[in-house]
Amino acid sequence: MKRMRSFRIGRLFGIPIELDLTFLVVLPLFAYLIGSSLGEYGRLLNEWLGPAAAVDVSALTGDTTLAFAVGSLAAIGLFTGVVLHELGHSLVAMRFGFPISSITLWLFGGVAQLTEMPEDWKQELYIAIAGPVVSVALGVISYAAFSVVAPVGGTAVAVVRFLLAYLAVMNVALAAFNMLPGFPMDGGRVLRALLARTRPYAQATQYAAEVGKLFAILLGLFGLFGGGGLFLVAIAFFIYIGASSEAQRTTMAAAFEGVAVSDIMTPRDDVRTVTIDTSIAELFSRMLSERHTGYPVVEGGRVVGVVTLDDAQSVREVERDAYTVGEVMSDQLHAVAPDADAMDALEQMQESGVGRLLVMDGENLVGLISRTDLMTALDIIKQRGALDAAGGERPTSVEQPN
Ligand SMILES: [Zn+2]
Repeated sequence: MKRMRSFRIGRLFGIPIELDLTFLVVLPLFAYLIGSSLGEYGRLLNEWLGPAAAVDVSALTGDTTLAFAVGSLAAIGLFTGVVLHELGHSLVAMRFGFPISSITLWLFGGVAQLTEMPEDWKQELYIAIAGPVVSVALGVISYAAFSVVAPVGGTAVAVVRFLLAYLAVMNVALAAFNMLPGFPMDGGRVLRALLARTRPYAQATQYAAEVGKLFAILLGLFGLFGGGGLFLVAIAFFIYIGASSEAQRTTMAAAFEGVAVSDIMTPRDDVRTVTIDTSIAELFSRMLSERHTGYPVVEGGRVVGVVTLDDAQSVREVERDAYTVGEVMSDQLHAVAPDADAMDALEQMQESGVGRLLVMDGENLVGLISRTDLMTALDIIKQRGALDAAGGERPTSVEQPN
């Protein structure tokens, strides 16, 4: 899926911090929800933190403007905690040499985008545990600060004490929530890392994914029938999907082991191309007869762009004779080297939201690889694996390098 719904708000330790559009709905919603139930939160905090550590509920309620301001501060504090949690993962990952492309805040909190996943169980364990460790530390610091601020004085003190108490509880809750044993929660990764101590990585992933799915089903049932509410069902759904896709990703990585882009690409001689002068009408008829949805655009033997069905559709039907490929194509070239791993090509397509990559050897186009090519190859490799397991003859149609 193409992720262009986010924008950048700044950098921390060189990592871009981005806000997803869904987050812009969540922040005011949280501010409102917290602000409109300050009394209730205050009473709960007093219950959890003990009667000695009283939050002055009466000073916070009554004034709507104040309530919403406190709600906003609490929401911002909460999401700052989420960013720091992700930063915890990121800094440990960077120490192990894994670059982080961004930290994004979205509907369900934060995501640190690792460009690749460590397969060493110790590294994965440390990276996964770092986030919850940061959250617990934030909770402890907030609680320490809360204990230091004396419960005397006016509204300002009451507000500060409420915020600190709220952040103390919420950061610890955030750590606990993230330790739920399912992908993509940190608990799922911790579980996989521990399972991978004595097993191959792919098998550990399968087991961890099964645990995650089972857990998601239980959580969903509890949400539906145990009074946990729809939010819990949504979380359960999210964990289930996460477990499935993580298991799928690892299975694919295992299947594509040792398969290079050049093994499955369409070689240069068979790649159909268009020129910048090709009309959109002609492009459509080519797409229809050749059943391709994207073409490299070649000019003077050089690739100058890529044109896809989406680009062509941007031209209104009556104007398709007048417009040419050159006017709608994308000149951003998504390319991969012929000796790159097939799995890397797939991940690159997913990251950049494109359906095909140019296979370039330096400046030269040597082939084209599409998502369909990869999926077809995957099916064949899996079938071959099944044949192997059944003692069948191994077909030699897919050549292995080395
Ligand atoms: Zn985390």
